[in-house]
Amino acid sequence: MKRLDIYIVIAVIVISIGLFLTFSLQSQENREVVISLKGEEYSRVKLDGKEHLFEIKTELGYNRIIVNADGVRIEEADCPDHDCVEIGSIKKVGQSIICAPHHLVIEIIGGEDTDLDGISI
Ligand SMILES: [Zn+2]
Repeated sequence: MKRLDIYIVIAVIVISIGLFLTFSLQSQENREVVISLKGEEYSRVKLDGKEHLFEIKTELGYNRIIVNADGVRIEEADCPDHDCVEIGSIKKVGQSIICAPHHLVIEIIGGEDTDLDGISI
């Protein structure tokens, strides 16, 4: 009887970890980075840990955007205030980086399962 109890406890722990991993992977897979220029969508990429580099050059100026496992950040910009660079990286759904002088907006949006974002360590 004791041994059976241990098996049940182990089974519950394994199932819990499995569910947790499934949920956290899902909510990560559903995050997307949307880059907008002058109010129009310029590019959209999944925030799944893979690295992407965007070098955006318009008549308004230059921004170098890095997307990787740490989130999204503007690494370099030639705007006068550099606020967008100083913000650093963002990775949560609903966060955004705005480079007003360049009319550039970077947002993180979630897919259908964003309500699962409540599960975090
Ligand atoms: Zn800027």
